[in-house]
Amino acid sequence: MTIVEIGLPKRLVEMTLDGESVRVPEGATILDACTAKGKSIPTLCYGDTLKPANACRVCMVEVEGSRTLVPSCSRKVEPGMVVHTDSERTQHSRKLVLELLGSATDLSTTPHVDEWMSACGADPSRFGPEAETKLQPTIVDNPLYVRDYGKCIMCYKCVDACGDQWQNSFAISVAGRGFDSRISTEFSTPLPDSACVYCGNCIEVCPTGALSFKREHDKREDGTWDESAQTQTTTVCTFCGVGCNLTLHVQDNEIVKVTSPHESTVTHGNLCIKGRFGWQHVQNR
Ligand code: SF4
Ligand code: SF4
Repeated sequence: MTIVEIGLPKRLVEMTLDGESVRVPEGATILDACTAKGKSIPTLCYGDTLKPANACRVCMVEVEGSRTLVPSCSRKVEPGMVVHTDSERTQHSRKLVLELLGSATDLSTTPHVDEWMSACGADPSRFGPEAETKLQPTIVDNPLYVRDYGKCIMCYKCVDACGDQWQNSFAISVAGRGFDSRISTEFSTPLPDSACVYCGNCIEVCPTGALSFKREHDKREDGTWDESAQTQTTTVCTFCGVGCNLTLHVQDNEIVKVTSPHESTVTHGNLCIKGRFGWQHVQNR
């Protein structure tokens, strides 16, 4: 019997996870229980600073007695629940979902997706070249960040971060319907003409690299982006008294992007334009 501690003390709920008896605090999701037990469940639309969107269906697991598979990111643990994360059914579902996503979307900058695909034997190419989404040219309409919607899986995380869950700018939303649905500014205006305040909080949560720093985009284009050569240093933003935590990603003695720790109780990974993008003066040597 393993007792898993998550957050503040709460009433414990007992469940069975892949044959092992586990107790988790009331209100924990199946994904919380898996994470606490060191089980890695693939997720794309799940964001640790956002409410579950239930959009990507990559994290589906099998719950005994449930007719359908359930999304582990949002399904709360119930007493006596018996969960299988690696059954034939979950593997088959994960394989098909990854194949569908990979056949229609450029996942080349999505972390971990290659290992997930090889673990379940996913082969997106079996749907053929016709499966690719219609060409969506990379949008470079401002000096700070780039939108490459050929990499977008429509997870809505950027919309939630820009909207009522964090920034309340509502600069982007889902436009169109069905196959024509896409993330867009109002009336597809260029970003500088939209309500965007360039906080970059959408980049912080984007799981695929569809939204990226202009510096990162340029370095990827010229083949000099090298994450293995980068260091990360967390410091305090000096622009104002809020004092947000900044994590500086440095390559070749140059800041190449700035993120923020999601566990920070002040920022939860969010920043403003100054903290996120105002670092050029540091390296104006
Ligand atoms: S741009 Fe990124 S965060 Fe926004 S919906 Fe697409 S994949 Fe998700
Ligand atoms: S990121 Fe923005 S809000 Fe946070 S300390 Fe810096 S200037 Fe202030």
